[in-house]
Amino acid sequence: MKNIIFIAPPAAGKGTYSKLLQDKYNIPHISTGDLLRDEVNKATSLGKEISEDMKNGKLISDTIITNLLKNRLEQDDCNNGYILDGYPRNIHQAKIYEDMLKSLNKELGIVIYLEVDKELALKRALGRVVCPHCGASFNTKIDAFKPKKEGICDICHHQLEIRKDDTEETFLKRFDTYLENTSSLINYYEEKGVLRKIKSENNDTNEIMLNKIRGVIND
Ligand code: AMP
Repeated sequence: MKNIIFIAPPAAGKGTYSKLLQDKYNIPHISTGDLLRDEVNKATSLGKEISEDMKNGKLISDTIITNLLKNRLEQDDCNNGYILDGYPRNIHQAKIYEDMLKSLNKELGIVIYLEVDKELALKRALGRVVCPHCGASFNTKIDAFKPKKEGICDICHHQLEIRKDDTEETFLKRFDTYLENTSSLINYYEEKGVLRKIKSENNDTNEIMLNKIRGVIND
């Protein structure tokens, strides 16, 4: 299986689709946002250091992310491919990542770019509720993604939570930072011939999206 970098704006559904791919292909979904949130939730010394920046939607330093990610990619479950979500976010990180891959003797694989309109992403961000126990994500504003029972995870029945960084102000800041940084990154990967584009529309179900993604993986 190819290694996959999954690029999409905040709240485009990439966490959800990555989890679906993880189950389908039996490869891990590695989200740098999750690795960082994990440190914050466990209140490690690193977690305490980054918690304010995480709350404000600011990017965390390359040194911190590089260490966390390299440790994760060294684990055995990454040997048959993985889905990388939230990294790299700019060309600088893309170059650091290529050096990391060389040192780990791994291939770049493909880059899936998921396009989504800002209004749709905002609607998803403001309705998003996540399960802190199993990581499942639901949406109170989109019928197809509402949990069966309000406030409760369909999968493990844990209480659902709103992510601290899912406010309108933080969302818009994150979306704009994303746009500023990714256009050059997309061009960078397009020139390398590894970019695969797909678009998420308002009424796309998980199944439709999974089919679109499988189409570009099998290209
Ligand atoms: P995400 O879950 O990908 O939306 O990331 C949530 C937050 O984690 C971001 O707003 C940043 O503060 C931080 N973060 C995640 N990935 C990166 C990265 N590649 N570089 C810098 N900061 C990151």
